[in-house]
Amino acid sequence: MKILVINCGSSSLKFQLIDSDTEAVIGKGLCERIGIEGSKISFTPAGKDKITKETPMPDHNEAIRLVIEAITDPVNGVAQLSEIGAVGHRIVHGGENFTSSVVINDEVIKAIEEVSDLAPLHNPANLIGIRACQKAMPNVPMVAVFDTAFHQTMPEEAYLYGLPYSYYEKYKIRRYGFHGTSHSYVSKRVAEIMGKDYDSLKTIVCHLGNGASVSAVKNGKCVDTSMGLTPLEGLIMGTRSGDIDPSVIDFIEQKEGIDTKAVMNILNKKSGVFGLSDDLSSDFRDLEAGYNAGNKGAIRAVDAFCYKVAKYIGSYVAAMNGVDTICFTAGIGENTSFVREKVLAYLGYLGITIDKEANKVHGEEKLISTADSKVKVYVVPTNEELAIARDTYALCK
Ligand code: AMP
Repeated sequence: MKILVINCGSSSLKFQLIDSDTEAVIGKGLCERIGIEGSKISFTPAGKDKITKETPMPDHNEAIRLVIEAITDPVNGVAQLSEIGAVGHRIVHGGENFTSSVVINDEVIKAIEEVSDLAPLHNPANLIGIRACQKAMPNVPMVAVFDTAFHQTMPEEAYLYGLPYSYYEKYKIRRYGFHGTSHSYVSKRVAEIMGKDYDSLKTIVCHLGNGASVSAVKNGKCVDTSMGLTPLEGLIMGTRSGDIDPSVIDFIEQKEGIDTKAVMNILNKKSGVFGLSDDLSSDFRDLEAGYNAGNKGAIRAVDAFCYKVAKYIGSYVAAMNGVDTICFTAGIGENTSFVREKVLAYLGYLGITIDKEANKVHGEEKLISTADSKVKVYVVPTNEELAIARDTYALCK
């Protein structure tokens, strides 16, 4: 069966067509600037060059129509429409309603709508993607795969904030966590690589990308993760602040004469390593170059980023009363050896020794700790699309 994986944002739509038998990517692409002037679709059929077409895309229905047109094109296409057996949709927030992926029906759509206030930028866009696909492929089953689902196993002491309990009861204000598909995929994959039983392993996954989060997975269940009600909590990220004292918000409002909305925009878009580097860059390729050139902003940002990752790892060793393996994944985790080395330098007390040669790896599965290291450290490239395709296939085969 061929599975279409859709990751729909408010003005963009990423897609991949995956063969469920071989798990190969048959084609993938991106629609950009949906509803904005200058929209374009790019499509890369497996083994061929990328094809880009600028074309009006007033809404997501048109974007989906173009996706199907690209996939089924007689020259560069990769499948017939009738071969698409199921569609898997990445949904950002499932609230407490969803602990695993589900086949989409009216009830599921209603439940996703109900938690849209928890992810106002993402869930409405995800729903638009579902509806556009339903319109274009009315008889094809669809599955919702939630970023939050994997973290629903967190115990109460990990997910509750120290707030009046009534806010949890009334508004479901609690920690949810994100990147769950990635944390799930990587924690399972590392157990396979190690030849160990997933259900008896203590794993810490560091998903370090533009958005970044750490999770603690004990005996096959997530027991804590660094993101919270929204993806703003936790690590210092590309442009997001991560953890701060909430009083900072009111303080900035007073000092700068701006409102809460403006401060939240700063915390989401102008902070993180971008803000700390004095607006040098949010991209670790630039920051690494700056670091090596002695740029003070780059050094400040990278040092703070690595310190925070190490601090979270330490807290999750405490949460799990130990750790067997630590995994690095996503853009920075997979590619930036100097960040991995800096983080691991804090963790000598765990008996971790890094294999500096192995740690030069980029984007490949690799053990980067020495043979005698007490805790095994791996680079495990994430593959959220494959994880979505697997869940979709499992529910639709
Ligand atoms: P992601 O959000 O997982 O796509 O990660 C994006 C971030 O990964 C970028 O902002 C970069 O900081 C980092 N990144 C991606 N590729 C590389 C690379 N080859 N070398 C260093 N950093 C990279």
